Amino acid sequence: MRIAVLSDIHSNLVALDAVLAHAGSVDAVWHLGDVVGYGPDPDGVVARLASVGAVGVMGNHDAAALGGPEIDWFNPDARAAAVWTRDRIAPDTRTWLAALPETAVIDDVSLVHGSPRDPLREYITTPEIASANLRYQATSVGLHGHTHVPAVFTERDGAMIVEWPQDGDLLELDDTPTLLNPGSVGQPRDGDPSAAYMILDREAGHATWHRVAYDIATVQAAMRAVRLPARLADRLALGR
Ligand code: ZN
Repeated sequence: MRIAVLSDIHSNLVALDAVLAHAGSVDAVWHLGDVVGYGPDPDGVVARLASVGAVGVMGNHDAAALGGPEIDWFNPDARAAAVWTRDRIAPDTRTWLAALPETAVIDDVSLVHGSPRDPLREYITTPEIASANLRYQATSVGLHGHTHVPAVFTERDGAMIVEWPQDGDLLELDDTPTLLNPGSVGQPRDGDPSAAYMILDREAGHATWHRVAYDIATVQAAMRAVRLPARLADRLALGR
């Protein structure tokens, strides 16, 4: 069973479509939240995810788009985009977002946006934070996003090992407690502007990270046309 694992799509339909085309035939699409926020096409992204039967969890930007208090922690640009998203999304989009749970377990894999112990807020960026969170994870394999940086945290012989996977990297999975981050589809922040995602193959027992080029200029033009903050459009080309 090949599963496309997508996180932090952030209303970027052009990037999402590039990733879905690259993934080709998959048995399932899982997402790790922040479906909306920042980008110009929240309704289009949610419609596409619904059409491919994607299942997943809520992110802090999704909660903010629904009117939640998460917006209070945003910087001014993120806040402006969240307000724009909140005021613009169609009723169907709102209904789909509101149905997302904060955590999920599918096929013995845990899904969360931020971290197992604080699903909407905490960033898993260090071995210490990863170690503390594995105690809250009921399955050996856990998926998270939120940082917009592809990562692997694995506990071996009591030590936490961190890796930063590149395009094409493959990780063999076993019963070792592991936290996997596919990176961000719609707003990568690791210096590579191409869309990031992961293929999880449960039968083969491995995960593979991928990067996909997409038409960034088209998305930037759409953001400028609706007057989303200029810095949010600029950063897409930088991958920062
Ligand atoms: Zn995000």
